[in-house]
Amino acid sequence: MIELRTPAEIEQMKPAGRFVAQTLATLKAETTVGTNLLDIDARAHELIREAGAESCYIDYHPSFGASPFGKVICTSVNDAVLHGLPHDYDLRDGDLVSLDFAVSVDGWVSDSAVSFVVGEPDPADLALIDVTERALAAAIEVAQPGGRLGDISAAIGAVAREAGLTINTDFGGHGVGRTMHGDPHVPNDGRPKRGFPLRPGLVIAIEPWFLQSTDKLVRDDDGWTLRSADGSRGSHSEHTVAITADGPVVLTDRSGLD
Ligand code: MG
Repeated sequence: MIELRTPAEIEQMKPAGRFVAQTLATLKAETTVGTNLLDIDARAHELIREAGAESCYIDYHPSFGASPFGKVICTSVNDAVLHGLPHDYDLRDGDLVSLDFAVSVDGWVSDSAVSFVVGEPDPADLALIDVTERALAAAIEVAQPGGRLGDISAAIGAVAREAGLTINTDFGGHGVGRTMHGDPHVPNDGRPKRGFPLRPGLVIAIEPWFLQSTDKLVRDDDGWTLRSADGSRGSHSEHTVAITADGPVVLTDRSGLD
């Protein structure tokens, strides 16, 4: 069921969005060559405790998960792109890191992801990150009242195809509200002018993610981490966006924080 939020409820969702944005900006700034993935998780846990927020991940146990996630942030490195379970690994020069973070504050969820390189970047990695960021920006631009969900999907797909990438639509965006994953599903490709009408009050996570040379994923033995089937690297950009009568409001905007 797709739920629409009142303007007052969207106001109530803003603290969660601000906290997620601030936390990702902080973690990105503090993550460098030599940082251990478990230390990123511990730092995120500390920030959650300080803020009185609630992790959406730690007890998360969907049908595809082998056991509850047990950590508060997804850390996906290089050919890992989604659901990366933090483990004992020190980041190396040139690693491409994707952080995906969702919490609840005062009962409202926000969800956001960012990819970046630590140390000396490979230009191909920066180009891939740029494609996911541009796809997210293009999707937000068409997240307007009067549009359709397919406009968002089509905008993402167009940017990916223009960059010569293939698209996996198994995992994509989703409704966000009292819980992390609600209706509707927001595929990363689709046809414009189709699908659910974009009405004021719809709050969705939009999350393009792409791999350099495949659309196939394989799962690690940890039961969570999804990596490319061919070893090529991945990037993931996500914001929680509220559609309002005045246009899209990016609840997890990091402008001025990064
Ligand atoms: Mg997310």
